Amino acid sequence: AMEKIRAAGLLRTQGLIAGQWVDAYDGKTIEVQNPATGEVLASVSCMGSRETSDAIASAHSTFYSWSKLTANERSKALRKWYDLIIAHKEELALLMTLEQGKPMKEALGEVNYGASFIEYFAEEAKRIYGDIIPPTLSDRRLLVLKQPVGVVGAITPWNFPLAMITRKVGPALACGCTVVVKPSEFTPLTALAAADLALQAGIPAGALNVVMGNAPEIGDALLQSTQVRKITFTGSTAVGKKLMAGSADTVKKVSLELGGNAPCIVFDDADIDVAVKGSLAAKFRNSGQTCVCANRILVQEGIYEKFASAFIKAVQSLQVGNGLEESTSQGPLINEAAVQKVEKFINDATSKGANVMLGGKRHSLGMTFYEPTVVGNVSNDMLLFREEVFGPVAPLIPFKTEEEAIHLANDTNAGLAAYIFTRSIPRSWRVSESLEYGLVGVNEGIISTEVAPFGGVKQSGLGREGSKYGVDEYLELKYICMGNM
Ligand code: ADP
Repeated sequence: AMEKIRAAGLLRTQGLIAGQWVDAYDGKTIEVQNPATGEVLASVSCMGSRETSDAIASAHSTFYSWSKLTANERSKALRKWYDLIIAHKEELALLMTLEQGKPMKEALGEVNYGASFIEYFAEEAKRIYGDIIPPTLSDRRLLVLKQPVGVVGAITPWNFPLAMITRKVGPALACGCTVVVKPSEFTPLTALAAADLALQAGIPAGALNVVMGNAPEIGDALLQSTQVRKITFTGSTAVGKKLMAGSADTVKKVSLELGGNAPCIVFDDADIDVAVKGSLAAKFRNSGQTCVCANRILVQEGIYEKFASAFIKAVQSLQVGNGLEESTSQGPLINEAAVQKVEKFINDATSKGANVMLGGKRHSLGMTFYEPTVVGNVSNDMLLFREEVFGPVAPLIPFKTEEEAIHLANDTNAGLAAYIFTRSIPRSWRVSESLEYGLVGVNEGIISTEVAPFGGVKQSGLGREGSKYGVDEYLELKYICMGNM
């Protein structure tokens, strides 16, 4: 399979600095493994602060030319990048499945989703309008310009190796910013392949740089630089907090997409088929490894037994296996630590009175495969309720009233996605408005799209990505007052 990637010219293992593919300056490399097999796919450059400083310098000098192009010129380059990603979608999806583990169908879905941000922001580039404000003195004219913030440091996770990059780089480049990307060390190959296509598309050398390796060192170099004006991050809440604190010293603009703890509330009046299908999709996408995955399935008493048995039946139909196989719907978890976290959460729950209704152990395939699991009678004193499990475990939590469901749903420091299933229109409004979350799916388990704002409240993050709102994160307002007219 790697031969196919190589043949397409998309196997890149070096960092990208100033348009050049470069080794780590000390020659160090790290291995990228296939989580389904343990096979080493490639060794990639393991970079640190020196390479990052050079990448920042390159982004900084390119900022002056890239930001001066017309919106139309930037738009055309982005559109070409989009076309090249789509033209190579099979290879990119294959690479993603190999290094991340998600089933090919999901990987293809991510390539389309990831590409959609480039297409969308290629269009949006041309629609970044300023304002003219009616003056308070008649001899004045008041204007507002929108200008790019400058060099952007983008740090991204492994669960969406392409989309988390394009969702940041798309709007950044569209606005005229230049970028230093640090992809996850677990999934750098997809990022590097995408960067290769960006160069081919005519995104100028230095506008998009990629460094990977020693995460804290690269992170610190980005934070300490006065030239980096913006940090955009998707990943764990713990690292997000560090980056936010570290941005204080140079007062950078910050956007954060952090962990969630998504409630999925199934009311007595739900259409049970819709609720089962929606919660299954919301829970088991990418084997439960997304920040919008349903983390707590709250089920109203009157429908609990019926929902549980229909849900378990649906979970039993999930096929665990290597993502390259056509029949697979559940790939492996990203690594051993991820499986150990799941085991810890299950032990904690069963020791406090929850019951495993399905699965609850490692899969017979070995490696980091885990059985799709349903746990009943989960309560708010358990880790499964309090934290993100990030694995294929669906905790069922019974509740009595709508008020109680809202209280349980909001009883967390996270606030990214929430889902509700009900046939009542007034209830869907009431509950949607009461949920302290950035996104709400009503009778729908998969809701992300490039045209809508994605982001969290509380400790799930700051700022929004995608949509017309997503460009604001990369822009500064400048007020110009023209006097004595
Ligand atoms: P996840 O649980 O999704 O792996 P992390 O927050 O650990 O979440 O990782 C998300 C991204 O943050 C990855 O690219 C990782 O390498 C990077 N990262 C981890 N620690 C740091 C750090 N101290 N500074 C900067 N980036 C970091």
